[in-house]
Amino acid sequence: MKALKERIMSEGRCLPGGILKVDVFINHQMGPVLMEEMAEEFVRRFEDVRVDKVLTIEASGIAPAIMVGYLLKKPVVFAKKNKPSTMGDFYVTKVFSFTKNREYDVCLSKAYVNEGDHVLFIDDFLANGNAAAAILDLMSQAGATISGMGFLIEKHFQAGGAMLRSSGIRVESLAIIDSLEDCRIRFKE
Ligand code: 5GP
Repeated sequence: MKALKERIMSEGRCLPGGILKVDVFINHQMGPVLMEEMAEEFVRRFEDVRVDKVLTIEASGIAPAIMVGYLLKKPVVFAKKNKPSTMGDFYVTKVFSFTKNREYDVCLSKAYVNEGDHVLFIDDFLANGNAAAAILDLMSQAGATISGMGFLIEKHFQAGGAMLRSSGIRVESLAIIDSLEDCRIRFKE
């Protein structure tokens, strides 16, 4: 997606360890106009699949997910990183965080994803696919179907995209980065 790639080139910064910092328009300050355009693109790309709910993981996936849910007029649910004391029955799984380099639990109330639901997962980044794998686990516990997974930015040099596609998941990424070597951002054509 051209507008996103241009924004990454002009405002994205490379950090050591293959991390792209996009705090200016995605991960800290957020650009709602681009966010809406990205959501429209997801809606176009997933127009042929059934979506009953949009799902994400807090925190950075919430903004794009709510935009997609708004356009589709479907509820948006986010998996939580800490179990609130008010949560009743829930599904739980573990995620290894790429940026924080540690494992944590994510949980999802059984009230909000039901057996037979078709769910579209939306997140900011796809790196090694740990967050996506956790979602697959939660959805399998719930008996729900993943209609597809949409990422704003996929880092193609990490294993997540290949892992998801080879297991038959429909993956759509709006900008695919081939390499961040030498702190240069190179997109996959
Ligand atoms: P994965 O679970 O696919 O290994 O990593 C995805 C999660 O890690 C994303 O939800 C995102 O929060 C974070 N992440 C992975 N790579 C990057 C990156 O290069 N930049 C930023 N800002 N976050 C990243």
